[in-house]
Amino acid sequence: MANINDLSNDLLVKILLSIPTKDIVATSLLSKRWRSVWKLVPKIHHDDCSYTATASSQFIEKFLQLNNAPFLESLRLRLEKNYTPRDYERWVNVAVSRNVRELDLLRNVSYLRPMPLPTSVFTHETLVVLRLKHALIENVPSATLLRCLKDLSLRDVIFSSDETVDRFLTCCPVLETLEVVLWISRKVKTFAIRVPSLQRLKISSLVAGYQDAWKDHGFVVDAPCLKYLEIVDHFSEFCSLVNVTEEVEAKLQLRHCDSEKLLGSLISAKSLALCLKPQMESYTKADFDQLVSLELCVTCSLDWLNLSLSHSPKLRALRLTLFRDPGCNNIRHVRTKWEKPSCVPECLMLSLESVEWVYYKGAQEENDVVKYLLKNGNLLETMSIRFSVSIQMEEKNRMQMKLESMPRSSSKCQLSFT
Ligand SMILES: [Zn+2]
Repeated sequence: MANINDLSNDLLVKILLSIPTKDIVATSLLSKRWRSVWKLVPKIHHDDCSYTATASSQFIEKFLQLNNAPFLESLRLRLEKNYTPRDYERWVNVAVSRNVRELDLLRNVSYLRPMPLPTSVFTHETLVVLRLKHALIENVPSATLLRCLKDLSLRDVIFSSDETVDRFLTCCPVLETLEVVLWISRKVKTFAIRVPSLQRLKISSLVAGYQDAWKDHGFVVDAPCLKYLEIVDHFSEFCSLVNVTEEVEAKLQLRHCDSEKLLGSLISAKSLALCLKPQMESYTKADFDQLVSLELCVTCSLDWLNLSLSHSPKLRALRLTLFRDPGCNNIRHVRTKWEKPSCVPECLMLSLESVEWVYYKGAQEENDVVKYLLKNGNLLETMSIRFSVSIQMEEKNRMQMKLESMPRSSSKCQLSFT
């Protein structure tokens, strides 16, 4: 049987790539054969939770100093101890000089001052992935160019002004994926994302409980190549979507923004997931004539359901579900009564194939909706009901029998319960 010590350095490095950096370094103690293999591993993934600040700092320094891989593929730091901006600057400078392609500077400490982004990053033209958490970007130097940057994550990153955001993103000409978490600050009012190459965008600003909108704060998305858009936002007063592509898949969970305007920008979407402040009376836009898949928040969905059924002639899959934010506060604006559409929507007669209801509680309105869908869904193949966990078994059985006895217009329709 082959001995692992007989494997080539290349193979050993491949094996070591899959284990944490501190274990990689520990392999140097195994035997003489292993003494220097770790130095060829082109990554450092370091979490300082089990170190003191001094020990952690020494570990990073020593690794970067002794590592002699041809280039450094990845430097990932998850830090909760306090280091000086000079420490970051030094580590990042070494990584940049070693042509690092993936750089994570994640500080898990909100009570410390945000870390200024080391200046060498701004002109590191071969960087492909950059993830920042609790960082500060005050100035974007004129020479800034992130020519290869494709994946950018900005979590709790403080920018000094609207212009700084604009300028920084302009310096990323091939950016494809962007995540922005907790962007809101007193210094930035309009977070504008104008990135022609962008394909995936996630924006998230969550808060526990209800808060009024931050007046005059919001974001603009101008991304003509966007394929996936996810926005979960509890603060912004406005959200403007410009140049959104026809094939976009969008998931929107917003408390304060103008729902009509937003949906007006998404009428060509193929897939939508919505938890929005209902404003259906005023909705006068054209049909969502490409929409095939729709997911609605089970809490605020009743107001949206009529609108979406009557304006989505090609809808095939409908899902009513509990979104990640269980405390949907749009319920403040919701009417609780289901109103039967005045005429049967086209999608019920010609396209709707599946309905899934997650967190079904058996309220009268829910019951009426299911009854209506079963009665009018000519092509319905599946109706899946997942009961709310708060419902007792006996009650569940009673509801199940009631649902099973409802008349169905589609002979193929199968009901399932979980
Ligand atoms: Zn909702």
